[in-house]
Amino acid sequence: MASVLITGGARGIGKGIATVFLQAGHQVMIADLAGAEDWNYDLATEGVMAETITELRGLGDIQGVGLNVTDAASCDKAVAATIAAFGGLDILCNNAGVIASGPIEDFAEEDWDRVFEVNVKGIYNMTRSALAALRCSTSAAIVNTASIAGKRGSPNLSAYTASKWAVVGLTQALALEFAPSGIRVNAVCPGIIGTAMWLDHLMADQTTADFEERMQEQIPLGRPQSEEDIGEAVRYLATAENVTGVALNVAGGLAMN
Ligand code: NAD
Repeated sequence: MASVLITGGARGIGKGIATVFLQAGHQVMIADLAGAEDWNYDLATEGVMAETITELRGLGDIQGVGLNVTDAASCDKAVAATIAAFGGLDILCNNAGVIASGPIEDFAEEDWDRVFEVNVKGIYNMTRSALAALRCSTSAAIVNTASIAGKRGSPNLSAYTASKWAVVGLTQALALEFAPSGIRVNAVCPGIIGTAMWLDHLMADQTTADFEERMQEQIPLGRPQSEEDIGEAVRYLATAENVTGVALNVAGGLAMN
């Protein structure tokens, strides 16, 4: 049984990761924004986290902690809360992320900075906070949520794309840096999942049915990925004893590199 800390765990893919780890008998701390943060779509809140804990409690040992990954002190507190709850930390899932889109000439500098602060520096902060505890574990692993956007460019997604390429690069660098300590570092590259990023931002003016229809046409395997599809891949990467430095696509054939 491992102790697992999942950032951005209150909803979406993070909730899917939590579900899969609980079903596998692990202890899960979900960490997410506690207060309402201003962004171009609603992010999670304390209330969302409470609902998720209530929903998943029947699966196993789940707790929650407020976290802002852009704040190093907040990351330290989330790690401390995990150790206090479960006696240690074995698996860190750096999953929190935000998206913004638009042509680069109109793209606000503060949006560019926020995307990098959360998607990239958030991993730097969390990794540094968790490292001492991970070094004490005999089954330590980090799994970063990158994206297929970390392997190919898309128009009007410059900041998000660049941030996810950075996550893939950071994953490789840390995999080599921590290999002598036995801490494995991998990334999952989700394709397209109908979370807030798509339904409240990229396709905010369209219905869920429009989203499903468009994805059936675009994705070779004919459907978007589920949150649990990503959770299964994260659990594999976190527990595969001889796998490190991988950026694994879970994208229904949408990306193959
Ligand atoms: P989501 O918006 O539902 O989840 C992101 C979570 O991160 C939210 O709960 C949000 O509150 C949290 N978060 C945002 N800023 C934070 C901060 N500063 N500190 C702590 N938590 C913060 O969207 P999602 O699709 O579930 O995204 C999860 C991850 O998956 C992200 O890294 C995203 O880039 C990645 N991803 C998503 C897709 C997709 O199609 N949805 C595809 C590829 C990759």
